[in-house]
Amino acid sequence: MPTLLPAELERWQSVESIIKKILSSYSFKEIRTPLVERTELFQRTIGEQTDVVSKEMYSFLDRKDQSLSLRPEATAGVVRAGIENGLFYNQTQKLWSMGPMYRYERPQKGRYRQFHQVNMEAFGFEGPGIDAEMVLLTSRVWRNLGVDSIQLELNSLGTAEARKIYRSILVEYFNDHIDSLDEDSRLRLEKNPMRILDSKNPEMSDVIQAAPKMNDHLDQESKDHFTGLLERLDGHGIEYVINPRLVRGLDYYTKTVFEWTTNELGAQATVCGGGRYDGLVKQLGGQDVFAIGCAIGLERLVELVELSNKKDQNGQPKIYFVAVGDKAEAKSSKLAELIRDQFEDCILEVNQDGGSFKQQFKRADRSESDIALILGDEEIQNETIGIKLMKEGGDQETIPEGKLLDTIAERIGT
Ligand code: ATP
Ligand code: MG
Repeated sequence: MPTLLPAELERWQSVESIIKKILSSYSFKEIRTPLVERTELFQRTIGEQTDVVSKEMYSFLDRKDQSLSLRPEATAGVVRAGIENGLFYNQTQKLWSMGPMYRYERPQKGRYRQFHQVNMEAFGFEGPGIDAEMVLLTSRVWRNLGVDSIQLELNSLGTAEARKIYRSILVEYFNDHIDSLDEDSRLRLEKNPMRILDSKNPEMSDVIQAAPKMNDHLDQESKDHFTGLLERLDGHGIEYVINPRLVRGLDYYTKTVFEWTTNELGAQATVCGGGRYDGLVKQLGGQDVFAIGCAIGLERLVELVELSNKKDQNGQPKIYFVAVGDKAEAKSSKLAELIRDQFEDCILEVNQDGGSFKQQFKRADRSESDIALILGDEEIQNETIGIKLMKEGGDQETIPEGKLLDTIAERIGT
């Protein structure tokens, strides 16, 4: 369970504040539920056969021997709290929450035992408009954070009834190919056969590729819903990939499921996942209300934002102006203004507070500049400027002063 240090938290806070603003602009309101719930709540919600409940929960007995668990996700607690407080009675709700979640997983980059999610859910909306809105909202989050290497994957799991039928078709198929299944999948065959589709074992990829697809067994209602969502996304110019093997890790999903994934974070590629869970509120003893939600993993998002912004900065050429002597100092400042006029994308730092050539070059190095411009007495006298490509380690060249802007344009490729 990592500790977040002050330097990191600055980045977290700016990401969080951008997300909160966007949530509010889509009319979502905050809710805060406890970190601990009855173990039974998660068993009934997420499903006993899922990895999360069967192997990843932090469960313990309290002083009255009641089994409690640290929350592995937010939806179960939000639905429980909503039912207890009458939030779903004759009204719609758009709720968000943010905070730590706990799963006993094998810790690695992008996967921790305490991690943070921003969770958003909408209750009481039947049509695909709200599904589309949730995609638009998350897509706006990526855009405002400067993240563009992220793709949307979609699938429909159908209604609970359609899933039951598909499930038996799938069990029959995998039973016919039992020799191709690994041990994990054979266990899943009885308890949670759809999870086999999610297996990452390369030896099983052929048998999974050839398996019957949920899409071919969807009920009409779910088909219409899914088409409605795709039409809306097309209308907004949102790109997506339909992934028939996207099943998600929790049992409560129906109809739409989606994930936002990236190629930038290695194996831990999913930044956000969610979908519909129309039956969940009723299943937990509440009204029969429609529901959809998704969760963003903040550790992965903050890392992705960092990577994306680094790239941007790399794309922005950096120049350091080395100037030794009073005349050189005055002139460097004038030339710098001309360069800034012409190259708005450049980061240009003019040396301040003197120093020898050697000291100033050190500063240029430390600031990770691409180019150093050099002015000393000799250059002033000859009306020339020295130029050195810092990262390529070549020799210093001397150019006539009149050629400065052209030379920079050439060097930084504009
Ligand atoms: P994964 O397939 O990566 O295990 P998941 O399907 O278990 O993800 P969800 O339960 O849908 O994840 O949680 C939503 C998001 O929370 C994930 O997409 C991910 O960004 C983040 N997340 C989940 N588990 C962890 C973890 N152990 N550490 C860090 N982030 C996590
Ligand atoms: Mg997981």
